[in-house]
Amino acid sequence: MPIVVLQLPDVKRKTETRPRKCRYCQGETFQRWGKVKKPVRDNRCRNVQVYRYRCCSCQHTFRHYPEGVDQADQTQRLRKLAAIYWVLGMSLRSAVIALAPFGVKLSHMSVWRDLQEQADLQEKRRHWKPVRVLGLDGAYVRAWGDVRPVLVAVDLGNGEPVAVGYVDEYNPQAVRRWLEPLVKRLGVSVIVTDDLVHYKTVARKLDVEHQICQFHVRRWVGRTLKELRVTIPEDWLWVIDEVKLLITELPLEGSRRLFELWKQIPERRAGRDQPLSPLDQLRLLLIRLSEHWPNYRVFDWQPDVPWTNNGTEQVIGRMKMRSRTVRGYKSWPGMSAALLLSGSGLG
Ligand SMILES: [Zn+2]
Repeated sequence: MPIVVLQLPDVKRKTETRPRKCRYCQGETFQRWGKVKKPVRDNRCRNVQVYRYRCCSCQHTFRHYPEGVDQADQTQRLRKLAAIYWVLGMSLRSAVIALAPFGVKLSHMSVWRDLQEQADLQEKRRHWKPVRVLGLDGAYVRAWGDVRPVLVAVDLGNGEPVAVGYVDEYNPQAVRRWLEPLVKRLGVSVIVTDDLVHYKTVARKLDVEHQICQFHVRRWVGRTLKELRVTIPEDWLWVIDEVKLLITELPLEGSRRLFELWKQIPERRAGRDQPLSPLDQLRLLLIRLSEHWPNYRVFDWQPDVPWTNNGTEQVIGRMKMRSRTVRGYKSWPGMSAALLLSGSGLG
């Protein structure tokens, strides 16, 4: 599980090391070429000492920064701190206010840039890391004065979000268009989703195994069985008990057993306009469960596949908490980077 690790980069006031290699010619011998005091924005120091060096091979001069400092006027520590404030729930403006007691004056746009930078760093760390088991779930976020659907993909191996798509999960073509390159690039072999029916089609087309979240299945099957228990003829009640047991235990032969039960219940052809009788509803339930059965128990034979999609839901929970204050940003890439950062632990 990702946790928020409040580890900030160190900032040194002066360099204790000499440069190793010239950035222009890879030369390894240098002459000290003066020093400058560089003012920085930081929660602890106001300025740092920077030495200039001249390369003995190519004569270029360059600055050699102390740890935690680079060309930017904010130190690496402050940039990360500002992003952490935001991830922990502050709006951009509150992050600005929270930094003021440290004597740091930032605009809210620089906080926004800081968190975009952290998101980029994270994206680079993640980029070519393969993901075996990918959790997917739709969510709604507030953006551009409206509520928009997004699709969130989570590496269920480490619980980190890997992508947020501006995609409606109820549009199977859009889901597939977005998912296909992702699945190929990451080398995904199993997806975990709730039992929205067209995920099954997408999984088949992309040739990946598909685990359906058992938490969702238990919830809707439990609800359906509870309703049927009061409506079906009493001599069929034992079927309900058996289905309940099968769903709880998920045995390998469950699919065949459900199919047998389905065959035992007589079909009563009601007229087209008439609502389904309770017994017809039970038949439908049995055949649906029997058909989907293999997707309920992928976790049983594929290593490291969870039997629920909780990992994805947790990430979405963190994103939702944050997306309340992410409003009015101009571009989808900026928004998606912010969501990814907020959904992760920001280690
Ligand atoms: Zn050089």
